[in-house]
Amino acid sequence: MAWTCGGSSNDELIDNLIRGGLISSSKVAAAMRKVDRGHYVPRGRDPYEDSPQPIGFGATISAPHMHAHAAENLLPSLVKADIPGGAILDVGSGSGYLTAVFHHLAPRAKVVGIDHIKGLVDQSIVNLKKDGVELGAVEGGVHIICGDGRLGSPENAPFQIIHVGAAAPEIPPALIEQLAKPGRMFIPVGDWSQDIWQIDKDEHGHVTKQKLFGVMYVPLTDAKKQWRE
Ligand code: SAH
Repeated sequence: MAWTCGGSSNDELIDNLIRGGLISSSKVAAAMRKVDRGHYVPRGRDPYEDSPQPIGFGATISAPHMHAHAAENLLPSLVKADIPGGAILDVGSGSGYLTAVFHHLAPRAKVVGIDHIKGLVDQSIVNLKKDGVELGAVEGGVHIICGDGRLGSPENAPFQIIHVGAAAPEIPPALIEQLAKPGRMFIPVGDWSQDIWQIDKDEHGHVTKQKLFGVMYVPLTDAKKQWRE
């Protein structure tokens, strides 16, 4: 099913994701049109295919339909995050692709991408600049940092949204703590068998967890286990 949604250009890819029912919101479609996947996938690969692609350092850029699922699921919270002082955390930001999509969906929020591999952090900064995304604004905007995403980013918390782009054996407690009231987390959980979980914290701090669907992600792990620089 996945490859049938690919295209020969970014616009064709998005058109086919809409046609295939993988993008239903016009806001998500508009944001994904603004981010050219060709700027985030290494040369020699087909960036407009609906499949994950290796980006080096033991990591992959997720398939476009997974990026679409994440953005669609988080959309209600993205709207709430789009205020001065709003904050979004993208754990395992990898290529920087989804960090950019979140930025276009919530341009007033501060979007923090965190990855634990310096080489990926540097490459994602190059990718984002190529794609026309400004980095390091004083207020709001996109910020890419290097660190262990399992610990979140306490100095930028709380977050209306936490997206995790790698599968955790269990949900890191620091991430639940750093969710705003209200806030939503989208996180793959599991080892061999993984599922996306949606974690919601309400305005009183009450947390609910819902299992959504089965997936295959690279693990949320120690930097040394993933890649020896
Ligand atoms: N959303 C990214 C996914 C990249 S793959 C994209 O589509 O490009 C998952 C990423 O998680 C990898 O870049 C990997 O380096 C990162 N990662 C794995 N464990 C991590 C950890 N403990 N802290 C931060 N990043 C981590």
